[in-house]
Amino acid sequence: MSKPASFYENVERNFDKASAFTKLPQGLLEQIKLCNSVYKMKFPVKVGNDVQVVEAYRVQHSHHRMPTKGGIRYSIHVNQDEVMALAALMTYKCAIVDVPFGGAKGGIKISPRNTSPAVLEKITRRYTAELIKKNFIGPGLDVPAPDYGTGEREMAWILDTYLTLKSNEVEGYGCVTGKPVSLNGIRGRTEATGRGVVYGLNEIVSYKEDMDALGLSTGLKGKRVVVQGMGNVGFHAANIITEYGAKVVAIAEIEGAIFCEDGIDVKKLLKFRKSSGSIIGFPGSTTLESSAAGLEVECDILIPAALENQITIDNAKRIKAKIIAEAANGPITPDAEEILLKKGMMIIPDIYINAGGVTVSYFEWLKNLSHVRFGRMNKRFEEFTQNNILDVVEKATNKNISVKERNNVVKGASEIDLVNSGLEDTMIEAYRTIREAKKKNKIPDLRTAAFYVSIIKIADAYGSMGIFP
Ligand code: GLU
Repeated sequence: MSKPASFYENVERNFDKASAFTKLPQGLLEQIKLCNSVYKMKFPVKVGNDVQVVEAYRVQHSHHRMPTKGGIRYSIHVNQDEVMALAALMTYKCAIVDVPFGGAKGGIKISPRNTSPAVLEKITRRYTAELIKKNFIGPGLDVPAPDYGTGEREMAWILDTYLTLKSNEVEGYGCVTGKPVSLNGIRGRTEATGRGVVYGLNEIVSYKEDMDALGLSTGLKGKRVVVQGMGNVGFHAANIITEYGAKVVAIAEIEGAIFCEDGIDVKKLLKFRKSSGSIIGFPGSTTLESSAAGLEVECDILIPAALENQITIDNAKRIKAKIIAEAANGPITPDAEEILLKKGMMIIPDIYINAGGVTVSYFEWLKNLSHVRFGRMNKRFEEFTQNNILDVVEKATNKNISVKERNNVVKGASEIDLVNSGLEDTMIEAYRTIREAKKKNKIPDLRTAAFYVSIIKIADAYGSMGIFP
């Protein structure tokens, strides 16, 4: 039997499928597809009385827009092929949601669970120094963010190392996103990917024609949802989708999967897992035979929010969802996708549906460059204007507006309001563009349509650089 295709080869296969619908020159397509720069490094870190040699990467897939952008992953499974695949996905993702960056990704081959915070900090700081040495980090060069195994804490270490070594850079805070709010991060970034998944799904299920084809009603209300992964993305997607009236009936994690027809309270589940170390045994739920069985629960919407290669030709036939939203990067292999599409499922590709994270990272970067919190200049002024309008209405109608009514109407936009509104608008607009492109060009599936939109936009950027007429 031949070796299964690698993650990067799978991304290339999806790219090739979509590029066939464009009429772009072969050389330009090649330039868009390839990884521009791959930096593999090894560095020593002193652990106890010994030295640990750490393997790490940063890949910049495309420089058609600068800076390049993408998270940093800490996992024992990190390898060059994976980081290249993830960097390429970042390029297409940014293009789809009109985030003016090229794609990049980083990875460190370590187990964050089995490494002490003190050693993690040493490794993170040394990795940042290595990136600085090679010009692989900077607000105008390459801007990392969290990914699997990293979060605000790691971003704070990166920022601190960067600012220590580049103390005179006025835009230095823009060297990394996903920072704590206290260090010039932005409100709403932590939940942004999960929230973006829900905003996207809310738009997707609003088209009657599309839902009729799947045998579903419109709207998220009442939809049965299954989520794989209770990390940052999976938790927030699960939590926010219930606010729209959907029911999370099953959740899968590394240790196993649980089911509850009445719906799982994910906030309580997260607390339960923190104290017990597992989702198994959560009150009111039944335990499924394995973690993999969680993915196979019959549902309206399946959200894989863990890692790549989760739905393959081995389990694709047993998946019983109507819609699959790829909150993770690359959870479905191209061969598995063919099986799922034949079964009539709707697959919402990662490069669109999980783009909420990088969208809000972009807002954070803008905030850092402008040195001012969104809403700071206009919030009170908006409230003042709205109050004046209500005063005029009161006078003209000779009716009193109660304090409660006034408070409902008068509301200047705060940072979190603007972030969420900008994110929602981005997810809606991007889906409309993909859906239109699919129809107009008779493209059979949403992934190919999303890649198509992305390739065209990147080719346009090369045009404006004078490389492509
Ligand atoms: N790691 C996230 C992703 O895969 C976020 C990247 C970013 O914010 O730059 O999209």
